[in-house]
Amino acid sequence: MEKITIIVPCYNEQEVIEKFYRETSRVFRTVDGISFTYLFVDDGSRDGTLAAIKELARADSHVSYMSFTRNFGKEAAMMAGLDYAEGDAVILMDADLQHPPELVPNLIEWWHKGYDDVSAKRTDRADEAWFKRTMANFFYRLLQLVSRYEVQRDVGDFRLLDARCVAALRLMRENQRFTKGMFTWIGFRKKEIPFKVQPRAGGHTTWNYFALYNLAIEGLTSFTTAPLRLTTLFGLFVSLLAILYMIFVAGRAMLCGDPVAGYPTLMTVMLFLGGVQLLSLGIIGEYLGRVFTESKHRPVYLIDSFDGRRVTYASPVQRETDTGNGEERNDDKA
Ligand code: UDP
Ligand code: MG
Repeated sequence: MEKITIIVPCYNEQEVIEKFYRETSRVFRTVDGISFTYLFVDDGSRDGTLAAIKELARADSHVSYMSFTRNFGKEAAMMAGLDYAEGDAVILMDADLQHPPELVPNLIEWWHKGYDDVSAKRTDRADEAWFKRTMANFFYRLLQLVSRYEVQRDVGDFRLLDARCVAALRLMRENQRFTKGMFTWIGFRKKEIPFKVQPRAGGHTTWNYFALYNLAIEGLTSFTTAPLRLTTLFGLFVSLLAILYMIFVAGRAMLCGDPVAGYPTLMTVMLFLGGVQLLSLGIIGEYLGRVFTESKHRPVYLIDSFDGRRVTYASPVQRETDTGNGEERNDDKA
């Protein structure tokens, strides 16, 4: 029998956990030949989320869960889920039932047809405000423009990943995570199936415009260094213009004398160049900041407990060292 793990990142979702479990397991019962396991990742919730999950785990041995020492963000929660998931495939789902469980048999069907990464593509963004929709549109356009990879449009984290993809994603330990870009980066055979995002079953979203802006910058900078290159190009372009203008100004002064004027031109050029320089510095700074954070090699998340037991290891990396894997590798070399 094939095994699929459902990874559910949860942050302050006490109102929907039980309903999520009920609705999903109702659908899972209709799927033959597959054993489903839940892996809830409690991302440092401050409400009764963990208690609600524990309640489920008591009643159903197919429910597994871990909790973080604090809120690390959804990207980190998904990574932890992928690190610890077992089985032939995983499905990433939000806890708030915005990802309709009815689609799961469909995802599995395409997986059985040989696709490694079956994702749900939203066909409407109608429930979103006009501004958010426009910004999302702009973001995808920009990302597509500057990157070499085919970015999946309007595809969220609701997807089925074959164990091969999971293994590949586990290799990517970077701190600043743009998971959506990673799914693209790893390649494999991809299939997109359409779905309609449902309204939240309860609770409320933790995303705001600032967080979305951050995610967008994250997406751009972790995916491509094109902004740096664009800065160079722009610098070249401006320098070229400056040289032409210099020739023009010098020529005019030689031919027609130099009546000291041109304060407006001077100001305009100075302010413009000042702005361009600050912008370029900012772009460099964005990348430098990322190098700084990444070079510290901190774990992406810290686990407080797994299935209710306190854990002493922080991440799978450390767990492997604990069991002596590192030493074995040395033996091989000798
Ligand atoms: N989530 C999380 N950590 C966070 C924020 C959100 O694990 O810091 C989870 C949340 O519980 C939900 C999923 O990520 O299962 C999507 O979050 P949300 O519904 O708030 O985002 P939206 O659907 O509005 O994009
Ligand atoms: Mg949601």
